[in-house]
Amino acid sequence: MPETFDLIIRGAHLRNNAALQDIVIQNGKITAIQEKVEGCGLTEIDAAGGLVSESFVNTHLHLCKVYTLQMMDEKALKDYQGADMGKAMSAIELAARVKDNYDERWIIKNVRRALLDAAKYGCTHIRAFADVDTKARLDGIKALIRARAEFKGIVELQVVAFAQDGIVRDPGAAELMHKAMELGADVAGGIPWIEFTDADIAEHVRVIFDLAVKFNKDVSMLVDDAGDPGLRSLELQALEAIKRGWQGRSLAHHARAMALYPTPYFQKVAALLRKANMGVVSDPHTGPLHARVRELLEMGNLVCLGQDDISDAYYPFGRNNMMEVAFLASHLLWFTAAADIETLYDMVTTSAARAINVNDYGLKVGVTANLVVMNEPSVVEVLRYHEQPRHVISHGKLVDLAQIEAIARQ
Ligand SMILES: [Zn+2]
Repeated sequence: MPETFDLIIRGAHLRNNAALQDIVIQNGKITAIQEKVEGCGLTEIDAAGGLVSESFVNTHLHLCKVYTLQMMDEKALKDYQGADMGKAMSAIELAARVKDNYDERWIIKNVRRALLDAAKYGCTHIRAFADVDTKARLDGIKALIRARAEFKGIVELQVVAFAQDGIVRDPGAAELMHKAMELGADVAGGIPWIEFTDADIAEHVRVIFDLAVKFNKDVSMLVDDAGDPGLRSLELQALEAIKRGWQGRSLAHHARAMALYPTPYFQKVAALLRKANMGVVSDPHTGPLHARVRELLEMGNLVCLGQDDISDAYYPFGRNNMMEVAFLASHLLWFTAAADIETLYDMVTTSAARAINVNDYGLKVGVTANLVVMNEPSVVEVLRYHEQPRHVISHGKLVDLAQIEAIARQ
């Protein structure tokens, strides 16, 4: 009597492995990876020599704002991306106009549409930001918390309560952030550089860490996101993480001013980041400046990529396709050598998972299966076409897109 398993993927090309492998999934976990598995699966997938890898992880997405571009005039986009990012703050003020009409009821519909795309493109984990301020109030966070329940086990959301319009400069925002954490946000999110003075920037960092410590949650901050080499909020975030014992629980996003830092200062900050065990999420496709990705990697820092925006005031494209994000980054960062392309793939899979503390993840025995079965046999060809995977396995189960389409149609 042959043994029966829940799911077997046959004939898989793994990264850096020439011989085709079979992968067994039982009770949601990977239980074997070997050349030929005897027995049969209740479900069997023929990978036919296609690449099988870990699923994709998106470490940064402004999920409450997806598909709001049509509600905006184009001035915010022009200000964010023009004039060497010198008008990034004005762009954020203009983009805030969309929040005059914030309502959980229309936001949730857009969120579902974006998460359907995520499932389609094999993205199983997202750190998703919801604006929390006196304009957005709690509508964005409520929509994301609802979507987190609807998509549980398919696309896992880490919901970030994000003080987009500041803490000191937006009186009332701190109280709303506290309420958002009480509602069940997974991460405390800030944007310190947006405050007007250095003292206010430091206060913003402190308030966000106070919330993180009180609710025992990770921190994500958008730091130094303008064309100003004098911005220092990345350094402050790293110092505060060390001071609070939050090493490995604090993540920096954007950090675009890093491109303009004097090199000795950059090297000091990079060393601080390693001390704080703090990664950097870069999204070179959504702004003309980007973090110094190659130098950070060469110094042993953790770096990954994020989608950042989908059709909002800051970026007109995007579809939660992390292969597309890596493909764009390949050109913008000039990561085109074979080893660079492997690094890019890490930055949307394994390194990304590490950055947002997704621990039960990886293509190894004993781990929950979060996998993609691609049409192409190698990483370079997967990125070349950046097409929909043939199959997606999320949290141990084969993803049924028809079922997710039904959720998205609600
Ligand atoms: Zn962002």
